[in-house]
Amino acid sequence: MLKSRMNGHPLVYFDNAATTQKSRAVIERMSSFYKNEYATVRRGVYTFSQLSTRECELVRERCRKFLNAASASEIIFTKGTTEAVNLVAAGFGRKFLKPGDEVIISGMEHHSNLVPWQRLCEEKGLALRVIPVDDQGELDLEAFGKLLSARTYLVAVTHISNVLGTINPIREIIKMAHHAGAWVLVDGAQGAPHEKVDVQDLDCDFYCFSGHKIYGPTGIGVLYGKMKHLEAMDPYQFGGDMIETVTFEKTTYAKPPAKFEAGTPPIVETIGLGAALDYLEGIGYSEIHQHENELLQYATEKIKTIPGLRIIGTANQKASLISFVMQDIHPHDIGTVLDQLGIAVRAGHHCAQPLMRRFGVAATARASFAFYNTKEEIDQLVKGLHKVLEVFK
Ligand code: PMP
Repeated sequence: MLKSRMNGHPLVYFDNAATTQKSRAVIERMSSFYKNEYATVRRGVYTFSQLSTRECELVRERCRKFLNAASASEIIFTKGTTEAVNLVAAGFGRKFLKPGDEVIISGMEHHSNLVPWQRLCEEKGLALRVIPVDDQGELDLEAFGKLLSARTYLVAVTHISNVLGTINPIREIIKMAHHAGAWVLVDGAQGAPHEKVDVQDLDCDFYCFSGHKIYGPTGIGVLYGKMKHLEAMDPYQFGGDMIETVTFEKTTYAKPPAKFEAGTPPIVETIGLGAALDYLEGIGYSEIHQHENELLQYATEKIKTIPGLRIIGTANQKASLISFVMQDIHPHDIGTVLDQLGIAVRAGHHCAQPLMRRFGVAATARASFAFYNTKEEIDQLVKGLHKVLEVFK
């Protein structure tokens, strides 16, 4: 993909916050698994099924290590971040939250970490509170402190904003929330690709991420939860593999993680996720950090010199993405001209409509960088933006 051409130009792929391209190691591992090792998991008495089960459980252990969870049983495989949040909202929220309780989210949440809580609040008669975002795109922690009370049951907040790039001070947020007796879910969809996560050190109650944003396949993600919560929660989906015993009168459920993994899981995607984590950690977060930071600084300096361009999100701690608008030019038009030049950026509301409203825009264009991007590609983007100016002059 990275060597391919788009509309007659070498592809410049700057939509990494939406999904990353896959490493050869991931593609080859998945392909080889399909060719040589594929069988169902958990059920088979035959050798291939047992081997398949073992490989998937090794990936669970790989994920435990990746997040430094205390136990591999605290790692639930989901379809992705969206399913992980829905699982917690259903299994935890529906069971424990009562009218009068409150849920706090932030003003920069992706709809995935907003709509499930809003729906729960509607169903249960709860209040949904929102941590405000300042003009730079940082969370107002003073306001957060005031929102916290004995009524706060849960705080759901993103590690890194997919629109602003802001790296939130989640350690502090978790401390403040715990002090008030609330539990914390961290949406790590954008966090895990850029920051080394240690869930025990952070002391978060839940952390989730998607495989496809960290160089792995689609259809697989992870929910980490503290064992005491997972044990207390209700299952999210019901069916095969999540039970202990079933009669027509009553079913008892398996222990976590199986309790939350009804049905045949995404077997080969799980294997691919394991290969992706090996690949990512093989490169190393410090190398990734350094390169992505250089790209961010370089791109920010160049892009902000373009007449009429405004960067949305100028937090002190930022991951490698830039959202921007250009005076009198719709972001879709920016995206379309760039596409003609082989440059893939995202244009739209980025599944964060309330945040768009906060900044007084309907949409932005967003260039998001991964470690495989280069300064030369950023030069192409800058050239492309000058072309946009020319076209819409
Ligand atoms: N949260 C954030 C911050 C995201 O950027 C995304 C994906 N754009 C999600 C949640 C949802 O992830 P997925 O679509 O993989 O479930």
